[in-house]
Amino acid sequence: MPHALHADVLVAGAGPAGAATALGLARLGYGVCVVGVPRPFDACEGISRRVVDGLRQSGFRRALEQIPPPGLRVVDWNGESLARNMESLLWRPGFDAALIEDLQQSGVRVLEARIAAVLHDEHTPGLRLADGTVLRSRVVVEARGRAAPQGRGVGLRGPGTLAVLQSARGAEVQPGSAVFACAEGWVWLARLAGGQRYVQLCVAADTPGLPKRSGLADWARARIAALPAAVAWLEGCVTEGPPAARASTAMLHARPWERGVLRVGDAAMAVDPLSGNGIFQSLSSATTAPAVINTLLRAPDDAALAVAFHSSRLQETFLRFARIGRDFHAAETRWSDASFWRERSLWPDALAAHVQPERIEGAALRPVIEDGLIREREVLLTTGQPLGVWRVEGVAVAPLLRDLPESPAERAALLEARIAEAAPAPLQRQQVQAWFNRHGIQAVREHSSH
Ligand SMILES: Cc1cc2nc3c(=O)[nH]c(=O)nc-3n(C[C@H](O)[C@H](O)[C@H](O)COP(=O)(O)OP(=O)(O)OC[C@H]3O[C@@H](n4cnc5c(N)ncnc54)[C@H](O)[C@@H]3O)c2cc1C
Repeated sequence: MPHALHADVLVAGAGPAGAATALGLARLGYGVCVVGVPRPFDACEGISRRVVDGLRQSGFRRALEQIPPPGLRVVDWNGESLARNMESLLWRPGFDAALIEDLQQSGVRVLEARIAAVLHDEHTPGLRLADGTVLRSRVVVEARGRAAPQGRGVGLRGPGTLAVLQSARGAEVQPGSAVFACAEGWVWLARLAGGQRYVQLCVAADTPGLPKRSGLADWARARIAALPAAVAWLEGCVTEGPPAARASTAMLHARPWERGVLRVGDAAMAVDPLSGNGIFQSLSSATTAPAVINTLLRAPDDAALAVAFHSSRLQETFLRFARIGRDFHAAETRWSDASFWRERSLWPDALAAHVQPERIEGAALRPVIEDGLIREREVLLTTGQPLGVWRVEGVAVAPLLRDLPESPAERAALLEARIAEAAPAPLQRQQVQAWFNRHGIQAVREHSSH
């Protein structure tokens, strides 16, 4: 007997990834229902300007109101203290509640319920709730973050990492944050408005002597007491509530699409918290997921292309961030023999995080997003963007390099003429030209499909 569908798409989890995917699907005209419960612990997280831009582009309004102005971030690393970056300190309970308000105001149904299982099925996947209710849909989005069961699907996994979180309260001071390295790992401290403080200590999950939950507070306090700069940050503070432990290992799922279920956000790919980039990454897979799902449902002949688009982007981003994290760990040399630092300065491999200079390496047919669907288009493969660049400032760049003459002067002149034709607006023309100036203008004659 066919199942009655609860919605076109069911989204498991109402964090930033689930909420952004749901808003994107609703804009494409799908009936969406998001099912979730709030996180079981309070957390504070630092976000950069580009998360704010990403949230705005995704259509969030109430969630943006929860973001305070940015404060200074001090980084105490390898014996040097730098205060160059700014970050906004996000109190997640308020932010997560505002994501749900945004969903409701956009006409997305939200069901507060604990999910017991995601039910895989090619045609009518679903969710089984803790009370036994079964909901069915055409596609399920797995967006329960790190709490999503991994099953046998872990593709890549970084060194096991655990974060100990502790809230505290002290005198009201200028909001800001600081990162300090120590022998066992690193500490992130945040001073929020109203005297609220937050401590996050990240260590190896197999740190010798790491106690179970009951001893965690004392253990973390002793570690922080050994860091004079951190002690100064917390002077006069009183801890509030018990500490929480949060799994923080970097992880890439091997099967982001499996029988009716698409993984987004941390459920698909979770980066090391040292990157301070988790929300941005979770939004990036969530903003492209609606086009992937739209293709699966409206253009099933391109299903394999859509899945390849989703998986290759997750893998590429995961490895890029893993390598940036490796280099940041390696830059801290005071404890390079300690296992925490040694392991993390070698994982995931020895390949460069950034290839300089940025160069065009050829052209190929690759999946891109066009009009809300995943389609195959000619792109330029570059050293920095191995998945390809399709358009720069709205101009398709690969055709501009087709069959250019050998002579450098003729080549540059013909490219300039082509850019002028493809980009009539002066600013757009300048930006496309500048992109080629940065990447070189190697002629492209043939596609490679791999
Ligand atoms: C220690 C630590 C520090 C971090 N610091 C930062 C930082 O400073 N800056 C930053 O940008 N990122 C940070 N991150 C990463 C950030 O938290 C995540 O990348 C981001 O929240 C992922 O969003 P998401 O929507 O994929 O998952 P989540 O935000 O985890 O959302 C998942 C949702 O699903 C719900 N859920 C889970 N299980 C169930 C269930 N069975 N039934 C119903 N609902 C369920 C959860 O309650 C939650 O609401 C940090 C992560 C860790 C571990």
